[in-house]
Amino acid sequence: MLDRFNREIYYLRIAVTDRCNLRCTYCMPEEGIQLKSHGEILSYEEIEEIVKAAVRLGFTKFRLTGGEPLVRKGIVDLVGKLAAIDGVDTLAMTTNGLWLPEFAALLKRAGLDRLNISLDSLIPERYRAITRGGDLNQAIAGIQAAQSAGFEKTKLNVVLVDGFNEDEKENIKKFSETNRLRVRFIKKMDLKTGDYYGVEGGEGGNCSICNRIRLTADGKIRSCLFSDNEIDLRQEGFEAGFKMAIADKPEKGHRSLKREMIQIGG
Ligand code: SAM
Ligand code: SF4
Repeated sequence: MLDRFNREIYYLRIAVTDRCNLRCTYCMPEEGIQLKSHGEILSYEEIEEIVKAAVRLGFTKFRLTGGEPLVRKGIVDLVGKLAAIDGVDTLAMTTNGLWLPEFAALLKRAGLDRLNISLDSLIPERYRAITRGGDLNQAIAGIQAAQSAGFEKTKLNVVLVDGFNEDEKENIKKFSETNRLRVRFIKKMDLKTGDYYGVEGGEGGNCSICNRIRLTADGKIRSCLFSDNEIDLRQEGFEAGFKMAIADKPEKGHRSLKREMIQIGG
């Protein structure tokens, strides 16, 4: 669908959960977030119907994110259901990779097309610090599991934090080449102050060519990462809600005070 600024909107990012097995410093506050109750979170049946509605409106690309998508029970079944929908051309997932050793082959078999894996440092202590407790070896094992399962064109998402990991850029580039990963450097954004940037090696962060909207785990469409405007899909109806959200999509982002990154999906 075209929005008011003649941008074709065909990419839906779906946060399947607001829970995570890490607590990255730039994504969530140290004290955690108020988690949504089971009843507030969209069921898999609802997500399937929402994706079918999106396809009817011309969406072709879908990405599962979170929180951490792999911590939601039954995620492989959801991937299988969505991959089977006629009109879903690309089904991707963004993950921190920690649980890929268990899930990569199952996801591939279920029909997932692509993976983006997030990793900000190749130094174990730094990785532990930025994720508040994560084990670098586990993340690297996840990357290897993705390769072994046959995923191709896997991207490595690296958030660059001023004065923290910029000195690792070259090393991470080398690591990516060796492991056949396409690296994307993302400068740390701040929802509250409205600081956002283009993504080096990717297409996000450039408002004039923005092609996407986001679905939160509790069923709200956000037409812009940096705007608090939300449309409640359960309340408005799925197709009507999408149309309202796209009609409402701002020309560019401002800032967002209502939610943390972990509650939007990045
Ligand atoms: N848990 C998964 C992961 O980490 O890949 C998926 C959800 S996470 C919110 C999606 C992406 O958003 C990750 O690549 C993460 O690095 C990125 N992200 C989170 N907070 C960010 C921030 N403040 N600025 C830039 N990117 C951010
Ligand atoms: Fe979790 Fe991903 Fe946010 Fe890190 S970036 S806290 S792994 S959702």
